[in-house]
Amino acid sequence: MPYATTNPYTGEVVRTFDDATPEQIDAAIERADATFQEWRNTSPEERAAVLREAARLLRADKRRYAEILTLEMGKLIAEAEAEVELSAKILEYYVDKGAELLKPRYLPAEGFGSQDVQLVNQPLGVLFAVEPWNFPYYQVIRITAPQVTAGNTVLLKHASNVPQSALAMESLFREAGAPEGLLTNLFVPHSATERIIGDPRVRGVALTGSERAGAAIAALAAENLKKSTLELGGADAFIVLDDADVQKAADWAVFGRHWNAGQVCVSSKRLIVDDAVYDDFLARYREGVEALKAGDPLDPSTTLAPLSSQKAADDLAAQVVRAREEGVTVEAIGSPVPEQGAFYVPTLLTDIPEDGETFVTEFFGPVTQLYRATDEADAIRIANASPFGLGGSVFTNDPERGQRVSRALETGMVYINQPTGVKADIPFGGVKHSGYGHELIDLGITEFVNQKAVVVSDIDGSF
Ligand code: NAP
Repeated sequence: MPYATTNPYTGEVVRTFDDATPEQIDAAIERADATFQEWRNTSPEERAAVLREAARLLRADKRRYAEILTLEMGKLIAEAEAEVELSAKILEYYVDKGAELLKPRYLPAEGFGSQDVQLVNQPLGVLFAVEPWNFPYYQVIRITAPQVTAGNTVLLKHASNVPQSALAMESLFREAGAPEGLLTNLFVPHSATERIIGDPRVRGVALTGSERAGAAIAALAAENLKKSTLELGGADAFIVLDDADVQKAADWAVFGRHWNAGQVCVSSKRLIVDDAVYDDFLARYREGVEALKAGDPLDPSTTLAPLSSQKAADDLAAQVVRAREEGVTVEAIGSPVPEQGAFYVPTLLTDIPEDGETFVTEFFGPVTQLYRATDEADAIRIANASPFGLGGSVFTNDPERGQRVSRALETGMVYINQPTGVKADIPFGGVKHSGYGHELIDLGITEFVNQKAVVVSDIDGSF
């Protein structure tokens, strides 16, 4: 897809951008590598200064940054401002903790003194980051903040529908005092990724996106023997047990399924409700969804945004048609949405056959998959019968039960009495088809460092 800003609320193509030429790609890699050779020797304070200033700039100009998100992918303006703030918080996390997280670790080893065996964290080099459009700043910051703190440099291939967001991230770092080449945006078609990943100066690849993109990029990384991390799709289970506060669970479910127009990898996509509270929950959930108001994402009273593009809305509609064809009960439960804009009316799917496509599919929009569970064990069974393993949540008034169920779920994250969240200081990552590797905290910063073992032997000359 060519890079273009198309307002999903008006349908207007606002601006288009040319792809980088092979020569421009090579020059960008060259510059990123040259910058790496200098940046790797900078002090933790120098690196932190850039991140601190980037956080300050984001906050100082929050509205302008937020409006770019709303323009390009239709995010509600309040959610866009929250994303700018979250991005600033991630930057500050590494300002505060980066140096500490990268300190050498001394290992107790047989036959050696307590300071003789160290693990030293050293950066790998130029990294290639392929990112999606649903959180155009947060995704870029989630990889860039830890990696430049570690001493790496980043080449960014952002999604083709958020080019101005990509440019905003590149210029943010420049304005924050980063050297040219620390974060470089590249408008490149899929076919160019082979050239980038194949370049020996590129040492690692991080992708957030769909399973299809993840498999393609990871295959290229493997062919070139490069480390990769994948943050892929999810179909988070949202389990409501029989002892849960049903109103609280319904309120959170309405939010968890519909924020960002339902286009979050950790949206509460599969509601799994104990038979004992199912009818009560569903009545309250319907009421909450019906109250959502679709409209102009810049209007603060709007609570349901358009999808990121008309194509996204059309693809979602086609998925729902396929669900109906395999016997799923399909019901619009939201109020009618405007004709103008890439809206999709909130829809409920029930009677989902466990041997069908719908059961294992991620719906990236305001479509709820609802399941009735006979008991706790059945809820866990349904939750784990998904190919995905990103996040999940469990609602119960019994803390021990919450812990027990959270441990039984095959996912990278579980939140008790809250939908899966996105936070600056809680790691992000999944298992199964949701990918591998982590982003954020120390787990993210060590994904692309050489944890080099340095061993000091007796130097008295004896053999
Ligand atoms: P997508 O199509 O996979 O796009 C993501 C990125 O990958 C874009 O930059 C896209 O570029 C690029 N891309 C796609 N195919 C490629 C290929 N063959 N070679 C090189 N680059 C390629 O994802 P999406 O459908 O827009 O985004 C939604 C998906 O991302 C959902 O599955 C969602 O759950 C997942 N997601 C996961 C996380 C997480 O942290 N786990 C977070 C957010 C989203 P173009 O735009 O140019 O196609």
